Amino acid sequence: MRNLSKYRNLAFENKETIKQVQTQLLQEHLMYCLNNSSFYKKYLGNRIEDISKINLKNFKNIPLTEKSFIEENNNGFCAVDSSQIVDIVLSSGTTGQPIKIMYTEHDLKRLAYNEEKSFIGCGLTKDDIVLLTCTMDRCFIAGLAYFLGITSLGAAAIRNGHGSLDSHSEIIQNMKTTVIVGVPSFLKKLGIYMQKENKDPASSSVTKMVCIGEPLRNEKVELLDLGIELEKIWNAKVYSTYASSETITTFCECEAQCGGHLHPDLAIIEIIDEQGNVIKDRGIGEIVVTPLGIEGMPLVRYKTDDISFLMNEPCKCGRNSMRLGPIVGRKNQMMKIKGTTLYPQAVYNALDSLNFVQEYYIEVTNDIDLSDNLIIHIAVNEQDFDLQLLQDRLQSRLRVKPNVILEKKAVIKKIIYTQEIRKPIRFFDRRK
Ligand SMILES: [Zn+2]
Repeated sequence: MRNLSKYRNLAFENKETIKQVQTQLLQEHLMYCLNNSSFYKKYLGNRIEDISKINLKNFKNIPLTEKSFIEENNNGFCAVDSSQIVDIVLSSGTTGQPIKIMYTEHDLKRLAYNEEKSFIGCGLTKDDIVLLTCTMDRCFIAGLAYFLGITSLGAAAIRNGHGSLDSHSEIIQNMKTTVIVGVPSFLKKLGIYMQKENKDPASSSVTKMVCIGEPLRNEKVELLDLGIELEKIWNAKVYSTYASSETITTFCECEAQCGGHLHPDLAIIEIIDEQGNVIKDRGIGEIVVTPLGIEGMPLVRYKTDDISFLMNEPCKCGRNSMRLGPIVGRKNQMMKIKGTTLYPQAVYNALDSLNFVQEYYIEVTNDIDLSDNLIIHIAVNEQDFDLQLLQDRLQSRLRVKPNVILEKKAVIKKIIYTQEIRKPIRFFDRRK
């Protein structure tokens, strides 16, 4: 396996150099897959005649890899002797059967390097003290990735994971934490808790928050209300980061805060439409990732199920790597309502923009006419509630007219917050 740091500054090179290096790394990756992965030997062996002719342009002709392929033939994806595997993560499959993602020691080093680069991108240095409010256990690879990245950078990690609000608050005050990593809605909750306890988060030592699991921005890459609130409550900057267990590749915002940078030496990214064709120029579709330099379970053109878009214009930070937009939704959460395509996040954004909305969840059902039905359950502050404004906002943002059911706040909270998970569950898919 190659020396990971060899192309450390590749993102700052011109686009032509980036393409050349990526083409070479892609060819090496494909060669590795064909030689070592029994799945890819069979799947791609006959389809690739000459690896040296594969480039970033004709790469789109190579077949895609679906998650279900891993479910059907999990061990066929393992490209090393089982004795070389040092970490196994379980990820939920499409049929409910968990799939194993297997990492070698090299893969964990790559994970550390990948995350270190992401943290450097949003301005972290070895002087930072980083509070992790996400778990490292329960097969959560991201928690481990952040820890490895922080230590690789030389900063200090405080792994308080799913500790209580009070324990996080104490740590922030006593340890002079400068950065927090966590789920945005949890960081908001923590900030409000600290305000109530008279420990103003805005005057704490925290200057940055690296946010996971929920988008911070809309499709125009502008901060959503949650992001605006977080920056205000904490008097700190928010940076979004995106990754998945299977692809082991992170896309993290830089200090310019305008989309997650691809580390061009670590992955190739594409966006495809429903038919599998590559979409260009900011078109919205499914994210397809080919992580480069993976040893244990290499993947080629892996369909992530997540929906977003790519930005290719130069970034203020000086990097020339592509940037990934905010996650618009999950492919399987796509709703088709009377010809309009819609993702839950768009509904959340519309509801979050209304001050009188306190809590909500959405339900989607379908019937024989093949159009989905969207039902929004909301709790409102009755003093300020304006039904007309609610209807107008939904109509203008979503271009559909959902059914709205008013509920008590406590009822909704019981449904959306489970003790196990940090972020609320707001989407209930009841489609057949
Ligand atoms: Zn940038």
